Amino acid sequence: MIDQKLVSWGRSGNIIREIAEYGAEQAKIVGPKNVYNFTIGSPSIDPPAIIFETMERLRATVPPSELHAYSPAAGLPEVREKAADFLNRSFGSAYRKQDIIITCGTSTALAAMIKVLLSCGGRAMTFTPYFMDYKYYVESVGAALTECPTMPESFQLDLEAAERALTPDTMLLIINSPNNPSGVVLRRESLEALARLLERKQREYGHPIYILADEPYRDLVYDGQEVAYIPSFYKNTVYCYSFSKSVSLPGERVGFMALPPEMDDHDDIAAAAMAVIRAFGYICVSTMWQRVAIDCIGATSDISVYKRNRDRLYGALTEMGYSCVYPDGAFYLFMKTPEPDAEAFCRRAMKENLLVVPGDSFGTPGYVRLAYCVSPEVIERSLPTFRKLAEEYGLKS
Ligand code: PLP
Repeated sequence: MIDQKLVSWGRSGNIIREIAEYGAEQAKIVGPKNVYNFTIGSPSIDPPAIIFETMERLRATVPPSELHAYSPAAGLPEVREKAADFLNRSFGSAYRKQDIIITCGTSTALAAMIKVLLSCGGRAMTFTPYFMDYKYYVESVGAALTECPTMPESFQLDLEAAERALTPDTMLLIINSPNNPSGVVLRRESLEALARLLERKQREYGHPIYILADEPYRDLVYDGQEVAYIPSFYKNTVYCYSFSKSVSLPGERVGFMALPPEMDDHDDIAAAAMAVIRAFGYICVSTMWQRVAIDCIGATSDISVYKRNRDRLYGALTEMGYSCVYPDGAFYLFMKTPEPDAEAFCRRAMKENLLVVPGDSFGTPGYVRLAYCVSPEVIERSLPTFRKLAEEYGLKS
């Protein structure tokens, strides 16, 4: 009676949460200061002051019955309009308010678009390493996800591998830059080359191939690195943005997706997305938080804290002999494990109360992910343990 695939997904749980919960239990035994928890990608810095000021202003000026009312499923019209205006100012695009759908973060945008674009069959593709929830979104609609490898070590796109991985039933690609779990920002030239490849494949296959640009980390870049805006050179791109990481509001569940007016099948896709969002039972995003977030669009939390963490952790680990891909953005460090079995390394580290996530969970064995959205003290206290493991594994320092 019950789909056993869903049952087994539900039972297998979420490895990141499981390791984090182990950490919480250990903290009760050895004390929180002696547990170094790098598992959860939840912002550790406060939202910027403008978020609270806007909340207060709205509370003082908008009647509660209006501030907390239902909104249309696609979001408040004025919020959609402000999102369109912001994108147009930032990227020279021509979105109209009807091209914007306010969503519960990028998760809902992705899950809804995957349902819309794969309902009549076909498959999705993404690049390793990738955020594990993509697989659930795709497989829960009965479709398959192709995992396309990237360049070893750099995790930049491998165009030849992408061409080999594309098939006539590929309907969409999910692209995430800055990337979770690697922190890599994909280079504009390779994204433009991918766009040219997809245009050729669209003609060859006789149907559109859409890109879902999953960009909750767009604003978290540390060295002035450009995050290429994919819709500016590939029209069949649904841009998915979130306020979860940029202004540290992951629990408020606000984001939006933008459908370029010139996108193939635009009107059908927009209508079907609304149907799916209603069918999922989302109703609407919190109307107060839609307003707060959009009035603060463009603001970020104080990301200099993440930059300092990135620099300290990357510098210390590479000095100890670990090999890490240099992360230009997000708040993750992807570290090669000193033994090929990343899960074994995680288990060994867990014995020292050092908690990291195996890369296998992101389609990339042999690595672990460290979420460095933690206090700088956690990093300092963890370093002797990293050093102990480096010595035990015979890494050269
Ligand atoms: N995509 C990636 C790559 C993520 O890392 C996350 C959250 O960690 C999400 C999507 C979902 O974020 P949101 O809170 O915007 O739904």
